[in-house]
Amino acid sequence: MQFSKVVGQQHIKESFIQAVTDGRISHAQLFLGPEGNGSLPLAIAYIQYLFCKQRTATDSCGACPQCQRISKLSHPDVHFVFPLALSKDVEKSNDVFPKWKEAFLKNNYMSLTDWMNTLDAENKQPVIGVGESKDILHQLSLTSHEGSYKVMIVWMAEKLNLVAANKILKILEEPPDKTIFILITEGTQLPVTILSRTQITKIPRLTEEDIIGALVENNKTPKEQAIGIAKSAEGNYRYAQVLLTENEDAQFLSEKFQEWMRICLTLNGDKLSEWINEVATIGREKQKQLLAYSIQTIRQSILLGSFAINVKASEEDFLRKFSPYVPFESGANIAEELTKAYHAVERNAHPKILFMSLSLKIHSQLGIPKKVTV
Ligand SMILES: [Zn+2]
Repeated sequence: MQFSKVVGQQHIKESFIQAVTDGRISHAQLFLGPEGNGSLPLAIAYIQYLFCKQRTATDSCGACPQCQRISKLSHPDVHFVFPLALSKDVEKSNDVFPKWKEAFLKNNYMSLTDWMNTLDAENKQPVIGVGESKDILHQLSLTSHEGSYKVMIVWMAEKLNLVAANKILKILEEPPDKTIFILITEGTQLPVTILSRTQITKIPRLTEEDIIGALVENNKTPKEQAIGIAKSAEGNYRYAQVLLTENEDAQFLSEKFQEWMRICLTLNGDKLSEWINEVATIGREKQKQLLAYSIQTIRQSILLGSFAINVKASEEDFLRKFSPYVPFESGANIAEELTKAYHAVERNAHPKILFMSLSLKIHSQLGIPKKVTV
């Protein structure tokens, strides 16, 4: 991972580059800052810069064998420790390292919650336990493969249990030669004895400008939408990604619903089968979301004109044109059919047959005008 792939944090990157250039690498460092600030990708970019054989004044080369192995989290001298849902088969990070590596490579800004979800362990306490400290000692006792530094990156170090923290403290007090510890933490709940033995770098929240830039460049988000997301994201790029997905999902549902209702009005066979073929492939969860959204929107369409409704401007525009075709009684019937379909999807109904029959029922309920203007 090169510095250029890490969002923002320019002055932190510069301080790391300076430390490497001056040969002032502290053997025990602590990166402190809130979720979504990029501490973990920064730590990896920093180590990659240190190990790179062809680094420039601003970044690692990204191409030499050192860079390539660090980028893939497969360098033999760079180890990772992270919280786990402990069980009799999982006592140390190495037991599930391939999973963690895959999750990180998929999303460099994953949060602790993301990681616990990956483990299907939402309800378990994430812990770095005592099994880990034995493994750390073992890893560090081996000589470095490349004859250079050995690095131990401890992600979410605040999850170290007390026994593990005390064992790590011993290593920090008497570090093996050419060893670098980077503890990454979002809070200061670590024992004072550990805090006092590390060089602390505060990694701040990202700026709105940095998040906008990253959304536009990495996610191809339209600038206007990126500005809105960045305002709500509070400097947390991971949260910005979550908001983006929610926005995209909402937009998808709204588009599919409007297309569907237009097709139900005109009952154009080609368009209907094209729509059904697409919806059949989106998976059961999304089909349920689409049906739930449709139920809610049909209800809003019945209320329109008599009550204040709770929809976005683009949806209200559609509903104003569409609602004249949905008499009150029909709206209630359609909502009922949609609800039945929702439960049928839950019971694994065949999606193509289900949406075809549902579309015909909706068509029969709509007061079809002579000329459709939606
Ligand atoms: Zn390189």
